[in-house]
Amino acid sequence: MNNSDLWQSVLAQMQLHISKANFATWFQNTEISEKDNEKIVISVPNAFSKEWLSNKYYKIMLKTMRDIDNSIKELAFVINPQTLKTSLPQSVKENEKIETEQLKFDEFKINKETNLNPRYTFENFVVGSFNDLAYAAGLAVSENPGYAYNPLFIYGGVGLGKTHLIQAIGNKIASDPKKKKVKYIPSEKLISNIVAAIRSNTMEAFKASLAPIDVLIIDDVQFIAGKIKTQQEFFHAFNSLYEKNKQIILSSDRQPNAIPELEERLRSRFEGGMIIDVSLPDYETRLVILKQKLQEKNVKLPEDILEYIASNVKKNVRELEGALNSLLIYYKINNSIPTLEVAKKLLKSFIFSPFDVTNYKKIIETVSRFYNLEEKHLFDVTRRKEIVKPRQIAMFLLRKELKYSFPAIARKFGGKDHTTVIYAYKKILREVEENSKLTEELNLIKQRVYSG
Ligand code: ADP
Ligand code: MG
Repeated sequence: MNNSDLWQSVLAQMQLHISKANFATWFQNTEISEKDNEKIVISVPNAFSKEWLSNKYYKIMLKTMRDIDNSIKELAFVINPQTLKTSLPQSVKENEKIETEQLKFDEFKINKETNLNPRYTFENFVVGSFNDLAYAAGLAVSENPGYAYNPLFIYGGVGLGKTHLIQAIGNKIASDPKKKKVKYIPSEKLISNIVAAIRSNTMEAFKASLAPIDVLIIDDVQFIAGKIKTQQEFFHAFNSLYEKNKQIILSSDRQPNAIPELEERLRSRFEGGMIIDVSLPDYETRLVILKQKLQEKNVKLPEDILEYIASNVKKNVRELEGALNSLLIYYKINNSIPTLEVAKKLLKSFIFSPFDVTNYKKIIETVSRFYNLEEKHLFDVTRRKEIVKPRQIAMFLLRKELKYSFPAIARKFGGKDHTTVIYAYKKILREVEENSKLTEELNLIKQRVYSG
């Protein structure tokens, strides 16, 4: 997603939550001026806006951005002198007072003890053939934690409901009168906690904090790839909980055996319980999801519009929600339901994605990152398995997605004989037929290669 689209999504969210006057006052003439991996710099027209946005709207903006790209860690604001003179804050209509409180949304009522977001429940989780097994297993675990499936390992591509499901399990258990101690930890957090504990010599205290947990939920566990210390400590934590029949729930974008640089003993622990995937919802389910989301927001949209969204927005549930939200913004601003024609215009950016193109750099970058390699190692002259496979996949994608000629690919990879490239291409093509794990990996990589 490029900066402009990212910012548009933030604006779209903000418009849903604040009054029109507030929105115009604080967000006009703002844009993302810089994105350097973890940090987003937002350019604003004046000091007044800068102060207001950073004091009042920081959290919601960061949250919205992180929902789209969770590598984003912080926001900064700069005053852009070019817009300084032309756009001082608009005066606000008298009858629309500016909200001066920090915005409060359900999303932010994260439970301090469990770290769970109460918005994720089984009740608002739509079940279809794409996720019914994961749902059933999740429900079983919530009814009998520690004994149904342990660990429960849920995997699948981005935006398909993994976080929603594992948090729903947690919320259900936490609401039970049995008062089990539930803890949700995104794995980035787990990693940073362990690193901090090592640095400050407080590992014992960290371990002690995990000991009383009955249900430990770790989200996006693929991020521990290559993190040796985290893996060691997590392995011990896992064992001591597991031995006491405590429930462990994990999510990942891929199967345990597809996580690179994962210690063998940890991988076998991950595989020791139940492993289930979530896939893409079909048309009918997409329609149900849209209706469910509308019901939650207490809004009605005509059937033809819903059918239009369901048949055109197919990537994942998050995109479906985004598409719906952009119509709700229209509804909120204009106080009228868009016609199908208007809806089609509003949904253009979801349906005709500018990211249907990719390039050489993106493919190399994505493949290396996926397999946790430095880019330069993809070009190493070596037969090491952990390099050969990613290299073959990169070659395959360059051919398949960009239609590079075999000799051109050979040149990119240090002047290899082009028959080596043909061999790699055919090998992957053949293996995809037989190996569903490779197919999944390739799908995930492709998804990333084509996203911003
Ligand atoms: P993931 O963790 O797999 O990337 P999320 O759980 O964050 O995906 O889901 C993205 C968005 O889609 C969330 O707002 C979530 O509530 C919603 N969502 C995903 N799956 C479902 C579902 N089956 N029913 C209702 N909402 C869903
Ligand atoms: Mg998630």
